[in-house]
Amino acid sequence: MAPDISGASPGVPIIDRLAIIGLGLIGSSIARAARRNKVATTIVAGDADPAVRARVEELALADEVAPTLAQAAEGADLVILCVPVGADAAVAQEIGLHLKRGAIVSDVGSVKSAVIAAIAPHLPPGVSLVPAHPVAGTEQSGPDAGFDSLFLHRWCILTPPEDADTGAIALVQAFWEALGSNVEIMTPAHHDLVLAITSHVPHLIAYNIVGTVAELEEATRSEVLKFSAGGFRDFTRIAASDPTMWRDVFLHNKDAVLEMLGRFNEDLTALQRMIRRGDGEGLFDLFTRTRAIRRGIVAQGQETAAPDFGRRAAETPAKP
Ligand code: NAP
Repeated sequence: MAPDISGASPGVPIIDRLAIIGLGLIGSSIARAARRNKVATTIVAGDADPAVRARVEELALADEVAPTLAQAAEGADLVILCVPVGADAAVAQEIGLHLKRGAIVSDVGSVKSAVIAAIAPHLPPGVSLVPAHPVAGTEQSGPDAGFDSLFLHRWCILTPPEDADTGAIALVQAFWEALGSNVEIMTPAHHDLVLAITSHVPHLIAYNIVGTVAELEEATRSEVLKFSAGGFRDFTRIAASDPTMWRDVFLHNKDAVLEMLGRFNEDLTALQRMIRRGDGEGLFDLFTRTRAIRRGIVAQGQETAAPDFGRRAAETPAKP
């Protein structure tokens, strides 16, 4: 049974022992935010990489740094997997038999259906799985890249399986709210489709356009870099995202990405036709609609209008 959080108040820990597995950008941000908001009595860190564990000690990101993932998970009330989604199955297998009865396992993966299929088979009876995806991040990785306000006023999507324990869902929701997130619950399949178009395909487009530049002959390429502020620069930020993480996202959200990519290709063909036919009205109408979408995102507090793409300011956005 998940702990009773009905009388929980800010600053009073809602979790006794929190284990974070994978102390990269997201895991270390959770550690920092959990400590700042006093969400857990004890924070335990586990990471497969000894260099990461040493850095977590140096930065004092956790109360305990466990030598193995199994030891990190042992006795924990909430275990959050913050590793690339391709590593979830191996990590779940490694910790599965060491989880205590009543523990809740969650994750932060950018893909949900495949991650549930990877983790669930390794969890013993009496352990709940409540997957989560904080829709917040940067193009940086590693324990130094995290910061405690990363999740502030950002959405966190929970995708609990149909038979998930309601107390466990409530606890994971309260956890993310305590870190400053707004929480939404949806099915894993719907999550994967929505994120394919809002996150995965945009990353693919950025990887593609920056990849095209990388293939240009030297003289043209140096001019692209010189005049990059014309739009290319903003794609390079996205295309600098972690290669392991993004390889795993595309391999594990194949169907939804291919579906959205199909629609994208159709719309691109329509745009090509407008340009070829000199359809200025069509282009103007589309660009007017897309501008409104950008303004809607800024109005919802999910981005700022700052001309540097809002990254620095977005770390401490105004409350929507
Ligand atoms: P990251 O900075 O690269 O951190 C991942 C951490 O996990 C690293 O410390 C890595 O160690 C460790 N790790 C890798 N394989 C492992 C294994 N088998 N066992 C234990 N530890 C392992 O990545 P991140 O950006 O935090 O992403 C982590 C997760 O968050 C991913 O599932 C991603 O989909 C999700 N996510 C990311 C973002 C974002 O914007 N970055 C946003 C939302 C959700 P090494 O450094 O030695 O590889």
